[in-house]
Amino acid sequence: MSGKLILVIMDGVGFGAAVSQCGYLEGCAALGQARRWKMRTVTPSLSGPMYETLHTGLWPHEHGITSNEGMRRSTMPNVFSLTRAAGKRTAAVAQSYFHTLYVDTPWDPLRSIEHADENSDIQAARFYSMEGYGPINAVAPAEIDLCAQATLLIERSAPDYLLLHTCSADTLGHTYSGDSAEYRKQVWHIDNALSRALPIWRAAGYEIIATADHGMNADGWHGGTEHMVTEVPFYYFGSAKGPDAATVLDQLGVAATMLSRLSIPAVEGMRESFFAEG
Ligand SMILES: [Zn+2]
Repeated sequence: MSGKLILVIMDGVGFGAAVSQCGYLEGCAALGQARRWKMRTVTPSLSGPMYETLHTGLWPHEHGITSNEGMRRSTMPNVFSLTRAAGKRTAAVAQSYFHTLYVDTPWDPLRSIEHADENSDIQAARFYSMEGYGPINAVAPAEIDLCAQATLLIERSAPDYLLLHTCSADTLGHTYSGDSAEYRKQVWHIDNALSRALPIWRAAGYEIIATADHGMNADGWHGGTEHMVTEVPFYYFGSAKGPDAATVLDQLGVAATMLSRLSIPAVEGMRESFFAEG
């Protein structure tokens, strides 16, 4: 076990969209370089609540962030705080909601996009705001630029845990619907950038999980219980033994799974890891 982990959150990328568009990731799974499962999210299937669920192993009803309109600092033990408490290092390339959740200072639109604070639960980061996004301008960073920022943070900060969060598929799904050429092509763009970054990150000694917070329906929305929004992919590059391929994973297990790969004990209340040690 390497003890170093990257989580890629492909915001709004449902299971069907990933399997149909992510030719690189699917090829890795076909070759045995990675494993891929279907995973079911908890609900409400919204971004902010799911970010906290992925990092705490709790339902929104338990961690308290049930709405994007109710974003605030996390009050629960989470993968960032537990990694730092274990004396390890954290980093992120992510939209500003993650700053709200895991950085203890207010968001400053003119300074917070570059973040370095050893005393913060996220110690090194490049954040982005997407301020002003709408139908005429998605205001999303290029996928390869996000991967480049993650690569620079890996080389400069040597994080044990790094989060890479891309919002572009969610944005185009809201604008054009989850059943649109625009959405599907953006899912492919994510896969295309990862095809160039993942080999570099693997060579740097990282295990990698690529998954989503939720999917996207044909109305260009998510939040409820439909399969389109609650079924997401879970790709894993690493040495642990997982359940058989037909098992549908439970999103609540992601936090404990990540901690186990970082050799950090889970805390009471977190659901169990998917993986046996290996
Ligand atoms: Zn969304």
